[in-house]
Amino acid sequence: MKNLIPYGKHYIDEEDIEAVVDVLRHKNLTQGRMVNEFEESVAKFVGAKYAVAMSSWTAGLHMACLVAGVKENHLVATSPITFVASANAAKFCQADPIFCDIDRLSLNISPIQLQAVVRNTPDKIQAIIPVHFAGTPCDMKSIHSIAREVDSYVIEDAAHALGAKYSDGSMVGSCGYSDMTGFSFHPVKSIAAGEGGMITTNNKDIYEKLLKLRSHGISKSDKHINHSSAYTNEIQNPWYYEMQELGFNYRITDIQCALGLSQLKKLPKFLARRRDLVTQYDNAFSHLKNLTPTQLAYRNQSSHHLYVIRINFDAIVMSRAELMGELRKEGVLAQVHYIPVTSHPYYQELGFDSADYPEALKYYEEALSIPLYYSLTNEDQDRVISLITKLIG
Ligand SMILES: *Cc1c(COP(=O)(O)O)cnc(C)c1O
Repeated sequence: MKNLIPYGKHYIDEEDIEAVVDVLRHKNLTQGRMVNEFEESVAKFVGAKYAVAMSSWTAGLHMACLVAGVKENHLVATSPITFVASANAAKFCQADPIFCDIDRLSLNISPIQLQAVVRNTPDKIQAIIPVHFAGTPCDMKSIHSIAREVDSYVIEDAAHALGAKYSDGSMVGSCGYSDMTGFSFHPVKSIAAGEGGMITTNNKDIYEKLLKLRSHGISKSDKHINHSSAYTNEIQNPWYYEMQELGFNYRITDIQCALGLSQLKKLPKFLARRRDLVTQYDNAFSHLKNLTPTQLAYRNQSSHHLYVIRINFDAIVMSRAELMGELRKEGVLAQVHYIPVTSHPYYQELGFDSADYPEALKYYEEALSIPLYYSLTNEDQDRVISLITKLIG
């Protein structure tokens, strides 16, 4: 059996292992310095003032929506082509998602569709969650200006986009066009922490609210503290803390942050390799009639999280399931990103219908993500290329 080539994979080296072991031997396992260091490093990398790390970006999406004031009778606008968590965040807050169809070229939420949705929706759209799909940044300038028209918060889902750049050259996460941006450190994403997420923001108030929600809604010393309970003769009582609102335990451990921090040092190298692999795929596939690489116009902005091709399955007289089966026989594990959120039974029962998002549906019918990750060797990529060329060409 040849070695298996998955669609994505993390990369861990000895330095990463030592960083984790160092925490286990010498440091706090949680609520220690590594959390702050990881936060400060990501904030610096993307060019944001503040960063808050949490147990997952899904937890982060929940907190971000709460901070944005999302509640019952509110709507949260997002893309149907995303991981379910982007839309679930609305439901966590008793609100509902509203979906905007994607742009054919970027595969991201279409500002034209968003504009139309915003104009035709009487209910309050409290937040917009644009998703930088596969690492290609959304048209944030347009999305931001639409959001301002209707006074919506903007929460960027940058789970795929650590290291990506907007068209103006600034980094995704610098929050020039949003209130908050969130990243994921699940092993399949650009850097791994095991599980983990981070939100960046330039707003101090948002930053402090996130810190509090992350840890039970508890504060020991902030501007809202009950002064007479917290102090004796103007000296802070050492035992005192107070719960000011309903929060969670969405903390991340120092073990995870040590890994994340060590991985972050390698991110430039990770991104460069992904970019090279993408260029090689682009060149290899440019002459194939029934296969189209996606997001080609955004290559120099992307963090290259996924390499998604669109295939004319009717023309190749092979179904996607058959093609994936043929690839799997040769050890190549392709995947589909994503089944439209609106096609999941949970959302269908809420009345959503993917037929209302024709670009998303058409994309879904043709899409396939093929292997792309830092440690994919040239030999293995060549295997993928020749196999796909043989099957599709
Ligand atoms: C991975 C992912 C999430 C969820 O992140 P976790 O850290 O796994 O909770 C949300 N949105 C998108 C687009 C993702 O890819």
